[in-house]
Amino acid sequence: MSKPTSDSSTAAKAAPAHFLRQIVQADLDAGKQAKIVTRFPPEPNGYLHIGHAKSICVNFGLAKEFGGDCHLRFDDTNPAKEDQEYIDAIKSDVHWLGFDWAGEVRYASSYFDQLYAWAVNLIEQGLAYVCDLTPEQAREYRGSLTEPGRNSPFRDRSVAENLDLFARMKAGEFKDGEKVLRAKIDMASPNMNLRDPILYRIRHAHHHQTGDAWCIYPSYDFTHGQSDALEGVTHSICTLEFEDHRPLYEWFLAKLPVPAQPRQYEFARLNLNYTVTSKRKLKQLVDEAHVHGWDDPRMSTLSGYRRRGYTPAAIRNFCEMIGVTRSNGVVDVAMLEFAIREDLDQNAPRAMCVLRPLKVVITNYPEGQVENLELARHPKQDLGVRQLPFTRELYIDQGDYEENPPKGYKRLEPGGEVRLRGSYVIRADEAIKDADGNVVELRCSYDPDTLGKNPEGRKVKGVIHWVPAAGSVECEVRLYDRLFRSAQPEKSEEGGSFLDNINPESLVVLKGCRAEPSLAQAQAEDRFQFEREGYFCVDLKDSAPGKPVFNRTVTLRDSWGQ
Ligand code: ATP
Ligand code: MG
Repeated sequence: MSKPTSDSSTAAKAAPAHFLRQIVQADLDAGKQAKIVTRFPPEPNGYLHIGHAKSICVNFGLAKEFGGDCHLRFDDTNPAKEDQEYIDAIKSDVHWLGFDWAGEVRYASSYFDQLYAWAVNLIEQGLAYVCDLTPEQAREYRGSLTEPGRNSPFRDRSVAENLDLFARMKAGEFKDGEKVLRAKIDMASPNMNLRDPILYRIRHAHHHQTGDAWCIYPSYDFTHGQSDALEGVTHSICTLEFEDHRPLYEWFLAKLPVPAQPRQYEFARLNLNYTVTSKRKLKQLVDEAHVHGWDDPRMSTLSGYRRRGYTPAAIRNFCEMIGVTRSNGVVDVAMLEFAIREDLDQNAPRAMCVLRPLKVVITNYPEGQVENLELARHPKQDLGVRQLPFTRELYIDQGDYEENPPKGYKRLEPGGEVRLRGSYVIRADEAIKDADGNVVELRCSYDPDTLGKNPEGRKVKGVIHWVPAAGSVECEVRLYDRLFRSAQPEKSEEGGSFLDNINPESLVVLKGCRAEPSLAQAQAEDRFQFEREGYFCVDLKDSAPGKPVFNRTVTLRDSWGQ
């Protein structure tokens, strides 16, 4: 694995010239275009996920690198599934990822008049017809990969009849599904996409942009390439499943009086193990409340990663690391986790937070005394210092005291010593227990001669984190883990579904945790390394001033499944 940098510009400079970069460079060198135009064309029927991030980085990235433009165009031809909420979320996610589109946001629906005129044009050329086959019949006529299709009995309608029927489809004279407009290409083509594909469907549905102006809607295939042409897109980059649609994309551009000739290129989509990236399934997780919304920090959505504490730079670097090729594969989610760890290791200030507090009283430390210790915020970067008051009462983590420690244990045990991070060496003298035998408090003594130096005549190996009792911030900590426990969540036992692979421990909520006093000022989305615990960020939604909720972004090391 190549070592990514957290600075995307250096990453881009050092980046290998993947095939799309080579194509663009060659086109510019050959003078095919003076300037490239790409587009990112989401359908507003869900939130963007990590797969979309790859497409965004490719499309916006190429435009940026080569001084071109990238459009954001909503591919909004299916009103039943689309929503303004998704449009808003998508715009905000693209900006969050660090990109901006050229000009206004565009909508395929703004081209509906032009697309309609072009459909009429195809009818006039004898290249499109209105077909009355039911969906079942149409499927039957379509044939299969091994068998050619058969011509629809409506294929030879006259131009005049087709023009009349199509106008009446538009006027709302027919019910949903009663008729469609189809291109007249070749029912025997080995490419199924060329077997008289659908251009228009009847859908009596309200559209989020065009309202009730239309009751017929163009298909994806009839919309996409022509929208590209209208916008002067030069390189229309999509994922490999559209490779077989390219002949159709080119057929429309060849037959219609379009103002430009864009070209379609395909690359392999991103598949990540332990992760689901299908909007339909992500929507199901939300609708059935398996998670708390599209931006649940366990979701593979960009808004989920954002709330989890991922940085835009880490996601961009990840997209650069995985590269752009034409061969499908599955990327290990550990690479994504590596990218965020790298970024946070370099940039996140250090802090201490005790997740399962155990009270410690330093019996030989004077009551009321406070020493303000200064600790660096970062071991390597100059991020300044923070104040940490040392007092007689403090908290350590329950897991850092063991009555019967295993061999080689380096933390606190009866009569043993440990260093409190950035502070003194303490010794456990006595454990106070409740009626059930649980340790509820430790009585310790400190060695006043150990601040910033080793104790005389003995070695103390262990260092543990702690916070002072007074002044520390009570907080909630949410320990997030992978949402799916199986590497291929979509592959389930017979009769099961991907939902059966949900990791029941993907969220563990800890209340009554204690963060060091400096974190009282933490703002939403501030990120920290909690020493020995992992990387955390202040939750965007559920934190209140002085009452932060911390989300675990990622553990310190990759220990998954161990
Ligand atoms: P889904 O399969 O999640 O519903 P989609 O392809 O239907 O995704 P669109 O809104 O049409 O979603 O996607 C917008 C753009 O993002 C398209 O150009 C699509 O090719 C690209 N894209 C979607 N998923 C991925 C992925 N996993 N990897 C790379 N690009 C992707
Ligand atoms: Mg799509």
